[in-house]
Amino acid sequence: MSILEPVIRPPAEADSFLLQVTLGCSSDSCSFCGAYKGKTFQVKDREEISADIRRHARRYPDTRRVFLMDGDALVLANSKLVPIMEELNAAFPRLARIASYANGSNITRKSDADLAELYRHKLSLIYMGLESGSPQVLDRCAKRSSVAEMVAAVNRAAGAQIKSSVIVLLGLGGRRHSAEHVAGTIDALNRMQPRYLSFLSLMVIPGTPLAEEVVRGEFEELDPQELLKETYEILKGLDLKKTVFRSDHASNHLPLEGALPKDKAALLRILETAIGGGIRLKPEFLRGL
Ligand code: SF4
Repeated sequence: MSILEPVIRPPAEADSFLLQVTLGCSSDSCSFCGAYKGKTFQVKDREEISADIRRHARRYPDTRRVFLMDGDALVLANSKLVPIMEELNAAFPRLARIASYANGSNITRKSDADLAELYRHKLSLIYMGLESGSPQVLDRCAKRSSVAEMVAAVNRAAGAQIKSSVIVLLGLGGRRHSAEHVAGTIDALNRMQPRYLSFLSLMVIPGTPLAEEVVRGEFEELDPQELLKETYEILKGLDLKKTVFRSDHASNHLPLEGALPKDKAALLRILETAIGGGIRLKPEFLRGL
């Protein structure tokens, strides 16, 4: 398979056919992100994409799920994306779902008719890194998508029956901006009403601009207790009607999952116990393993 490493995909796509249609991330600006360093953004050669589909179809004709890579394959116009999706639908008769990472403008630039066309071709899930609902925090880390754009994107996608899985990065405001990070994130998530919600914890990656800020003393990372408090405060403020919540990524100190709003009170009780020292947290050295 002609995949250009590194391969980054959500945990839930572990069994999906990972089809690379673009390389890297079209924005590649976020100060904390080392995901695609060294990969210049480009659209993959069309013939190579078709060859990857044919090769996978020969070996796994019963494939039901496809994940489009890399960082934001939906940056492609429908005129380029839909023929690829048609090929996927033809190659895999049992195909049930196509998913992809997406940033705000990937979705807001498309018309309602474009989104409906993608859904008809089985795009039914997008993963969106909100990271923070605070405009100040996003500005500080140079994220190109704005909060308003991402809220609009999730709602526009939902209008086309495309579900969203939204990712929040605990600790992204550091100590100084933790309060804005919490308040903004609560507000954005309540306006998004995502179907899936994941909390990851910030891990400072060597070589990124954020790592340099840490060295210069301009960014103070949260400790495990502070990360738990952010988790607690955000969860407490959420008013979600139907969301599957997970905070069980390798970067998190305390694995949590549940359905919101049903499990909210129980999750908050677990967090209170953990904050009070009643639950052993995952040691620092196991994060990221
Ligand atoms: S948009 Fe996502 S993949 Fe691109 S630089 Fe930011 S965090 Fe990394």
